[in-house]
Amino acid sequence: MQDSDVIVIGSGIGGLTAAALLARYGKRVIVCESHTIAGGAAHSFRRRGFEFDSGPSFYCGLTERESLNPVKQVLHVLGESLKAVRYDPLGYYHFPEGTFPVYSNTDRYFKEIAKITPQGARELKGFSERLLPLYEAMKGIPTLALRADWQVIPVLLKRYLPSLWKMLPYLPIIQGSVGDVMDATVQDPWVRRLIDLECFLLSGLKAHGTIAPEVAFMLGERSRAGVEYPLGGSGAIVNALVRGLERWGGQLLLGCHVEQILVETFKVVGVRLRSGEILKAPVVISNASMWDTYTELLRPEDLPPSYSQAALDTPFVDSFMHLHLGIKASSLENLTGHHVVVHDASKDITAPGNTCMISIPSVWDATLSPVGHHVVHAYTLEPYAVWERNDGYGQKKHQKAQTLYRALERIIPDIRERVVLELIGTPLTHAHYLRRYQGTYGPAIAAGKGMFPGPHTPIQGLYRVGDSTMPGIGVPAVAASGILCANSLVKPQQTTQLS
Ligand SMILES: Cc1cc2nc3c(=O)[nH]c(=O)nc-3n(C[C@H](O)[C@H](O)[C@H](O)COP(=O)(O)OP(=O)(O)OC[C@H]3O[C@@H](n4cnc5c(N)ncnc54)[C@H](O)[C@@H]3O)c2cc1C
Repeated sequence: MQDSDVIVIGSGIGGLTAAALLARYGKRVIVCESHTIAGGAAHSFRRRGFEFDSGPSFYCGLTERESLNPVKQVLHVLGESLKAVRYDPLGYYHFPEGTFPVYSNTDRYFKEIAKITPQGARELKGFSERLLPLYEAMKGIPTLALRADWQVIPVLLKRYLPSLWKMLPYLPIIQGSVGDVMDATVQDPWVRRLIDLECFLLSGLKAHGTIAPEVAFMLGERSRAGVEYPLGGSGAIVNALVRGLERWGGQLLLGCHVEQILVETFKVVGVRLRSGEILKAPVVISNASMWDTYTELLRPEDLPPSYSQAALDTPFVDSFMHLHLGIKASSLENLTGHHVVVHDASKDITAPGNTCMISIPSVWDATLSPVGHHVVHAYTLEPYAVWERNDGYGQKKHQKAQTLYRALERIIPDIRERVVLELIGTPLTHAHYLRRYQGTYGPAIAAGKGMFPGPHTPIQGLYRVGDSTMPGIGVPAVAASGILCANSLVKPQQTTQLS
């Protein structure tokens, strides 16, 4: 007696994508989400009339018809869509030595860089020109057509041979780090730091840790499709996926924490919920992180010990300090939405507190805040290990948030006087609400030092999706992981009918 064909643990974008696509393929799917709000790192939450993004706010290709964004490709086959606002410049970078706009269009971007360093701008152009042909080759193969097993080979050969040919010359850089491309093309120290910063914003690692295709894709996509913010915030993306899941018969259970994945003789049989209830299915897909899946959700005897040890040994990016603010908007008519502030040029950009990301999405969507107000999210890396809930917690939290306030003062000098609602989140908050091991941003698998694992596990019927699987961290990437997993569970002909 099975409760469903597939149980998905977690409604992050990776879990929802896999679940909705499998429902679209005709499977009976149940998603068990521990939190009372769906979306994981991408969920939105509401406080006193302010709608906050808990994490992501930076998106490309959400609405375009022929989009390369896997989220859009899945929404399309689910019959769902989003509304979004396009904007350019995509943000402002504030270095100690000055501020400059970052335009989606590469030529405009290079012109801004040339005002600071003409030689650096030429080198940055050379760097992009080395990467963009790789993007041109990759863009001929829609993620929706791919799967994570050998059956992808005939699909690629039959349907995408020209794109494969185009990719051949770039094989040497496909698995390499974009740092190697930077070493070959850019000497200017200022531009090298800029590339490191952009890689860090993308993968959590600097250029030498980030794989070249990821950066090629980012540069190509933002120049081609531009940047968009979804009306309603990141929660609108989650809601669209949930609508798609339910439209095709899938079920989302909120406040439904899975305590254990049930395994009998190395074969998955279902899950046990915190309530004690058992749900049975021959396939379970875990959207929990690799650390949580292998060390919390499975019993030690269910896995070869070397496997769980390998998960525990995988390096991970730190967690975050968050500052969510509701502020008065008077006289801020020229406010723009995205900013990155680097406080100290002599410190590493990845040092906790040094690089602060800021998003003010109510400049694009006024419904996110009460009239006359803006909604602000600022965050920076912060290690988890130094936090505990003791007597000094409240004071430490306020003290640590100061780096975010100082960053915000670069954009809104009188920010402190404007605050009507203040929520400070620490790595403990992040880990708690996102149910993530040590509140991590995700695995720090550096280019050349390993690869993100695919969806398969040593346990029959157990699969994984999300940012600790291939292709990695970020909303489009985790949606791609959901597609790869879902497609691997159906016949290639079923995929061909959709893609
Ligand atoms: C601050 C921040 C800013 C970001 N900005 C961007 C951005 O601008 N653009 C971008 O593309 N990406 C961005 N990212 C990255 C992106 O948000 C994540 O990589 C992505 O959302 C992770 O999705 P996921 O599917 O891996 O799962 P997660 O979001 O981690 O979701 C996993 C889900 O599983 C649930 N779960 C875990 N354990 C259990 C259990 N035992 N039982 C039931 N449910 C469980 C959790 O509650 C959670 O809902 C950002 C991330 C952060 C943190």
